[in-house]
Amino acid sequence: MQIQIEKFAKDLGVLPGQVESVLTELGVAYESGKFEADEETLEFVRESLEEAKGSKELVLHKGATPRDIASALGVPQPEIQKTLLTKLKVMATLTTALKEADAEALVKLFGYSVRWGSAAKAEAKPVPKVPKSAPSGAQSRPPVVTVLGHVDHGKTSLLDYIRSANVASKEAGGITQHIGAYQVQLPEGVITFLDTPGHAAFTAMRARGAQVTDIAILVVAADDGLMPQTIEAISHVKNAGVPMIVAVNKMDKPDANPDKVMQQLTEHNVIPQAYGGDVEVVKVSALTGSGIPDLLEVILFQAGLMELKADPKGDLEGVVIEAKIDKGRGPVATVLVQNGTIKVGDAIIVGNTYGRLRAMNDYKGERATTAGPSMPIEILGLEDVPMAGDKVEPADDERSARNVANERADTARIKSLAGPIKRLTLKDLRNQLNAGEIKDLNLIVKADVQGSVEAIRGMLEKIQNEEVNVKVIHSAVGPITESDILLASASDAIVIGFNVKPEGKTKAEAERHKIEIRTYSIIYELIEDIEAAIKGMLAPKFEEQYLGTVEIRVVFNLTRSGMVAGCHVTDGKVLRGANCRVRRDREIVFEGKIDSLKNVKQDVREMIAGQDCGMQFVDWVAFKEGDVVEAYELVQIN
Ligand code: GDP
Repeated sequence: MQIQIEKFAKDLGVLPGQVESVLTELGVAYESGKFEADEETLEFVRESLEEAKGSKELVLHKGATPRDIASALGVPQPEIQKTLLTKLKVMATLTTALKEADAEALVKLFGYSVRWGSAAKAEAKPVPKVPKSAPSGAQSRPPVVTVLGHVDHGKTSLLDYIRSANVASKEAGGITQHIGAYQVQLPEGVITFLDTPGHAAFTAMRARGAQVTDIAILVVAADDGLMPQTIEAISHVKNAGVPMIVAVNKMDKPDANPDKVMQQLTEHNVIPQAYGGDVEVVKVSALTGSGIPDLLEVILFQAGLMELKADPKGDLEGVVIEAKIDKGRGPVATVLVQNGTIKVGDAIIVGNTYGRLRAMNDYKGERATTAGPSMPIEILGLEDVPMAGDKVEPADDERSARNVANERADTARIKSLAGPIKRLTLKDLRNQLNAGEIKDLNLIVKADVQGSVEAIRGMLEKIQNEEVNVKVIHSAVGPITESDILLASASDAIVIGFNVKPEGKTKAEAERHKIEIRTYSIIYELIEDIEAAIKGMLAPKFEEQYLGTVEIRVVFNLTRSGMVAGCHVTDGKVLRGANCRVRRDREIVFEGKIDSLKNVKQDVREMIAGQDCGMQFVDWVAFKEGDVVEAYELVQIN
């Protein structure tokens, strides 16, 4: 049985280091934070640990590094480094062997004393390697990082600083090219940064089915705190299930207030490690560069935990992160290789287009012939411009690439003719639940004031049902924006507006993505609708659609027909049987239906602006000259 030391320690309420020392004492080998033991041995380990539980002693081997101590104490590595630097004034990398006195002082600060053991790790016989789920040939690959946050909080500055500090200066004479992504080479590892900051780009890719980001950096300006787009970004990242690191930027400013930022983060369920949570918060300045090496280190540490792997010799997989048509060079695309290796001369299929690679350039503007996992590379030779998020796949030759791409383009055309893609709607919720197509009802809630956001969120989350989880994936104050629609489209959600409406082009965007927007002004109606939709009993909802306005100019009393209003249509049109509202001065004197409509003596169905007609109403004759009739239809909207 393979056991994770960290989890095992946590379950027993002891430190990982204590587990390790017991393992050493018992002669049980461990490696890479894991050990192998049968039930009997495990019982033995547990018993020994029970004894160690109250002890404040930590067994370390000589030459222990900050990384070893972090793992032994179960404390994040940056915290150990920070403590070393700030409290003990010791400069050390994660792999520096610490002097005994420094190690002891460090451990003491965490409330433990050191018992020096032998270099147990080296002597222990290694456990057989843990089989990885990744295919054979898989190797570690650099993490792919996206930077998100509110406008002007310094996303671009941070990306630019990292690039110029780590890329340009090292490439004597080399020009850094903006190809949509770049890589940073550090002694501890490589990081790939996507150069299009912001959650719109991040979620647009995800909406197209391409999750390229491994780690998200949330930039928050220390002098400004959490702002609406920061909160949006948090929701977008959480919904993507991507680990987040917070960079509190602009620390050089005199009014920087990182504590306030930390406080605000917790209010949005992003709990900094300093507060016992699992989110690393690093204080930086994109202006002076302070803290940026720490940020890079934290990224690499997080990547290490994720054990990101890809097989450079495996099948080619990649994603387009940017594409354009270039006057001289034709279609140009930046591809992020996710698996395998892309080579000049390869025939590839990219979304609905294809090509044979004529040339490639890396982010330094240098010609390249191959690119492996996590490498961004600009490719030339495609027939057409692909879209960001398109997948890159290998083909046997150019001809088969063309066939596949053409077939796909045809299918896409037929699909778009066949009608809209199926999306989650409240009306159809019951059917989709019955068919087992969905388990979550994802909702985005926008409202006019924070109080309503919280009240609605609270009430929605209380709706209990065995078959469906009602999940509010994002909630905020403000109008419904295009970014909400993007998130809804990436997470298959319905957007709810309370006393707010879609702004600008949002409605058109929602129609394009087939995202349902529902607006309410009464909370209980909103809750009732959701409950009814879950039960499959959502009553159809109607909306008034204005038809036209008619003025009553004269009133006749005809022997055969009775009272008739002689009218003039002043705007739009009126229909026989339409609903109407009659106003006298400002007051509504009748609400009901138009019964008959006559042109001279002829019964008609419709009269338009500028025409005169005779009109009667269902069960109402008390009309007067000067009354204004507003005709409307009720149109079902769900
Ligand atoms: P973005 O909209 O998030 O990409 O923000 P920018 O990178 O464009 O930065 C917005 C403004 O803040 C610019 O004027 C930057 O010069 C400034 N800025 C960014 N980072 C820092 C920083 O660390 N310190 C200071 N003082 N200003 C910064």
